[in-house]
Amino acid sequence: MKDISNTIPSLAECLTYAGGTKYMVVKEGAFAELPQVLGSYFCENNSKKCFTACFSDKNTYTAAGKAVQEILQTAGIPVAESYIFEDDIHAEYKHVEKIKAILKTVQEKAEYGTQAILVPVAVGSGTINDLVKRAADELSLPYLCIPTAASVDGYTAYGAALLNEGFKQTMSCRAPIAVIADSTVLSEAPAYLSSSGFGDLAGKIIAGTDWIIADHVFELDGKGELAPGTAPIENIAWSMVQNPLKNNLVSSVNAVKGDKDAVKILFEALGITGFALQYMKDSRSVSGCEHMWSHVWEMEELCMDGIPVTHGHKVTIGTLAGAAFTECLFKEKPPLNKTVPNWAEREAVVRNTFAALPQILPLVLKTTQDKFIGNTDKLIRLREGILDNWDNMRNDVFKKLLPYAELRSLLKDAGCPVRPEAINLTRERVIRSAYKAHMIRKRFTVLDLAFELGIFDTVLQKMEMSDYFG
Ligand SMILES: [Zn+2]
Repeated sequence: MKDISNTIPSLAECLTYAGGTKYMVVKEGAFAELPQVLGSYFCENNSKKCFTACFSDKNTYTAAGKAVQEILQTAGIPVAESYIFEDDIHAEYKHVEKIKAILKTVQEKAEYGTQAILVPVAVGSGTINDLVKRAADELSLPYLCIPTAASVDGYTAYGAALLNEGFKQTMSCRAPIAVIADSTVLSEAPAYLSSSGFGDLAGKIIAGTDWIIADHVFELDGKGELAPGTAPIENIAWSMVQNPLKNNLVSSVNAVKGDKDAVKILFEALGITGFALQYMKDSRSVSGCEHMWSHVWEMEELCMDGIPVTHGHKVTIGTLAGAAFTECLFKEKPPLNKTVPNWAEREAVVRNTFAALPQILPLVLKTTQDKFIGNTDKLIRLREGILDNWDNMRNDVFKKLLPYAELRSLLKDAGCPVRPEAINLTRERVIRSAYKAHMIRKRFTVLDLAFELGIFDTVLQKMEMSDYFG
């Protein structure tokens, strides 16, 4: 692995790399900046006029929407629409259509002049933000994000996770031009939202170790041609996400208790991971196998007492699973396995594994075939290369990984679920979900490392026999 810089870029530096988002502030009383931010970043340095349409739900209207609208109106910035969604709104595409229709109506009235810029304002947590983000993008409008909880890293991402005709997909769309977060509002959000954000941030530990593994495998031939889905580490994205990560986790552990400083650190850290994503135009820097575990349970519509488990809580258990899998894999150097799988057998396994999810089977078959190494010589060369480089890779991984026990106690302190049963899973289901998690994405992670070495089942047996998730 080449040398990686250990500098920690400032928020201002991260914003220059972001590409889409021009400004982010997280502090007490941040809403006072609204008129100035709109003038500078949305109205071409006050050379144009703007008017707004605000979207919230009942809770977020009370928490922030009302105050935001009062500040806008006092500053002479019209609020042409204040739309309040029902509280249990889901990230479904039909709501994007609704928001678009509202925005078009507001725009067509043209009572603020044809030159005035309409700024949609999303006041809420991940769902409202994603819906407004996509609607604004489809209408080519610049939008403003007012988050009300430090619950996900998706606020500043350039995509929106939406359910369209039964499929959850990340739909491409531009990131917010500006993010204005009041740390008092964030600190007063329900505790489960802050712990979800903490879990999403903790997942970056595994995204980091997976990237180290993918970098080592990429470097075996210097071209990444031995195994699909590998990628060299990119210094800037790495320094934004990984260099401050452990400190940020330790410093934000009390976010769940409503500690304003902790929640500010948590939100800023999550926001910056989104900037790394904007910079890379790829989620490698922020998402590894822990998110794949989470996506599996998302597809299986994991609920607790009839309510969908939050993204961050699924990522929390995925993070612990990823840490346990990584520890088990690196426990001892495996011997060179000379058995080579064939596609017909593999295809049967994939079909069997996804038998209960027929709607996504075609996509999974394509993904698994795309990353299947059918050439015997190539696979043996890959295995030999990995085993020759084993100690280096292992050392680099363990420099980044927080040991499972340490990670577990940190997550527990932050109010995250650490037992599978806490989110309606079982230990066995978590371990067995590794098969599916490996099949749904081409990105090379620790799961691929085990598979290509021919030791996937052995690693899972070690997990089963250990006291992980005990
Ligand atoms: Zn996430």
